[in-house]
Amino acid sequence: MKTILYLLASDMDGTIIPLDGKPERRAEIHRFTNAFEKQKDAALAYATGRDLERVLQGMAEWKLPEPDWLICDVGTSLYHPDADSDRWILCEAYRKEMKKQFGGHTADDVAEILQGYPEQDPSRQTEFKHSYVFPVEDEPEKLLPEIRQKLQAAGIKAELVYSVDVYSGEAFLDVLPSGVAKDYAVHFLRNQLQLDTNHVTYAGDSGNDEHAFKSGINGIVVNNADPKLIGELKAWADTDEKRDRLFFASEPFIAGVHEGCRHFGLLPPA
Ligand SMILES: [Mg+2]
Repeated sequence: MKTILYLLASDMDGTIIPLDGKPERRAEIHRFTNAFEKQKDAALAYATGRDLERVLQGMAEWKLPEPDWLICDVGTSLYHPDADSDRWILCEAYRKEMKKQFGGHTADDVAEILQGYPEQDPSRQTEFKHSYVFPVEDEPEKLLPEIRQKLQAAGIKAELVYSVDVYSGEAFLDVLPSGVAKDYAVHFLRNQLQLDTNHVTYAGDSGNDEHAFKSGINGIVVNNADPKLIGELKAWADTDEKRDRLFFASEPFIAGVHEGCRHFGLLPPA
């Protein structure tokens, strides 16, 4: 077993996976992979809203560096490679943690309590995440208080993550264990590995990375990041300590991650 001194946790879409279709991105991924694989004391985790199957698809499609952990389903599942096979398996200690955060419940209990609300496809549901989709014109945000109240009455401690896709005209609701997002799993790993916060770095590009950036570890904000997020983080970083924790890369996507890893000492300087 290798001794791990550093952890890089990275978002996938828009961070390690490029979205602009430029041909040079594949060479940038290759360069990063070569550099990272030389760092024997650094571990890698992907932290994403994707489920395991789509994570593995993305890794294969883009030939991404092989990670040590996968944080999937917006932080509600944590996988590690099985020592005896080449399969990824759920971390049992993390499952216990999720159940505790849900007030002793699972997503099945959520489904039962919220019967009648429009559920997403069964393939989108997991043990600790139940997801819904509403037409925007139904003004689903008005349903949130009653949904919250129903869950509370059943003793389910939940986090409601609501988002609107203006292009499709759909609104999405994820019901997760309370306090759980991608950064929850990152800090779970940090504790397990007993790493100093200075040795844990998170890379991301959008609103669902914001919690992780503000969670007391190092942050790499890639250059293509959402301008709203950049503004938010710059306003938040009002002390030297917070400013030192954030690195705003001049490069987009994985080249920005590479630049940030050099900045924080995870990779040697260019
Ligand atoms: Mg992203």
